[in-house]
Amino acid sequence: MTTTTACRSCGSSDRRVVLSFGDTPLSDVLLTAEQLQVPEARYPLELMVCEDCALVQLRDSVDPVVLYGGHYPYYSSVSPGLVAHFEACAEQLRIARGLGPDSLVVEAASNDGVLLRPFADAGIPVLGIDPAHGPAAAAEAAGVPTMVDYFGLPVAERLAAAGRRADLLLGANVLNLVDDPNDFAAATARLLTDDGVAVLEVPYVADTVDQGAFDNVFHQNVTYWSATSAADLFARHGLALVDAERIETFGGSLRLSIARHGVVSPRLDALLGDERARGVDTFDYFAGFAARTAATREALVDLLRSARANGARIAAYGAAGGMATTLLSYAGIDSALIDYAVDRNPHKHGWFTAGSHLEIHPPDRLVDDPPDLLLLCAWNYEREVLAQQHAFRAAGGRVVVPIPHPRIV
Ligand SMILES: [Zn+2]
Repeated sequence: MTTTTACRSCGSSDRRVVLSFGDTPLSDVLLTAEQLQVPEARYPLELMVCEDCALVQLRDSVDPVVLYGGHYPYYSSVSPGLVAHFEACAEQLRIARGLGPDSLVVEAASNDGVLLRPFADAGIPVLGIDPAHGPAAAAEAAGVPTMVDYFGLPVAERLAAAGRRADLLLGANVLNLVDDPNDFAAATARLLTDDGVAVLEVPYVADTVDQGAFDNVFHQNVTYWSATSAADLFARHGLALVDAERIETFGGSLRLSIARHGVVSPRLDALLGDERARGVDTFDYFAGFAARTAATREALVDLLRSARANGARIAAYGAAGGMATTLLSYAGIDSALIDYAVDRNPHKHGWFTAGSHLEIHPPDRLVDDPPDLLLLCAWNYEREVLAQQHAFRAAGGRVVVPIPHPRIV
């Protein structure tokens, strides 16, 4: 683990701590019963904002080998919704950019090639870049040529030297995961053709703050972007942020368009003005978020403790997800308060959650051994889970939705 001493984007030392979660386990780690006896690795999770360029970022960097277990660095093609989104997006981009057989579409962190496949199917040359061997092999098998490597300046230099520059560079949920955004931006500048465009999706920090979604903060997510901070990063590399579209991915994201030159679109102009007006580039904006986060924690712990004191049995839904690790660790909720966890993913059954040490069971357990309360860690899927758990609720079970402020439904 390394601790940064200056802004990851502009290098300024004028960074202030917004929110400290203390030392928390890495998300996406599950434990066996034997591992519960061994002390767990925990890493500091501290959120800072740069007062010069407005970039929100983690202070510490965990070694990617530790962070990703050395095998699965990126998350791109996990959900069917995301795949459908990519397919719709590919077609839209193909038409808008006028791409053809002499073009090149490159994707950073291309995973199994799901986003590039529609371009390849339309006869447009594509190249995926991804460090994970398994997904890269799957992409190759599906007709998407893939370099097994990290997207960054060395790869961009090699491709540009070989005359392979990108008319379109794609990156979905990757800029926010890289440790060095300047290397990513420099690689983008090197790789794009003179009139090329990069289209990058990143979670939108203002949506995270507005929703009180402090559980979006975890070790893998190194940076938290606004249009203001993204414009600043790319400007330092001779590029311009020309458009930003707000989309629903991951509870609110920005789809950024970056080019060498071009005019700022009216909606980006409006978004930058909105961020200025709301102070998204100021410490005060995030200090308010930190205060609301602390209040949420206190209310949640009070609610669960008083239910427990009255003899309630409590289970947790979605406690094995990445976001739940931050929620449970920060609130100090563990097996002393919660009897067990349920999750739909069969690969997680029989394992224990990191930090909180809850045993994970199939959701059927809620019917066979019903708790009085169900803590919905996967609160962003409230509607779906409430529909699925109709039987549990019909039998008198109640659900606690923790964020933005704890409530019982
Ligand atoms: Zn900065």
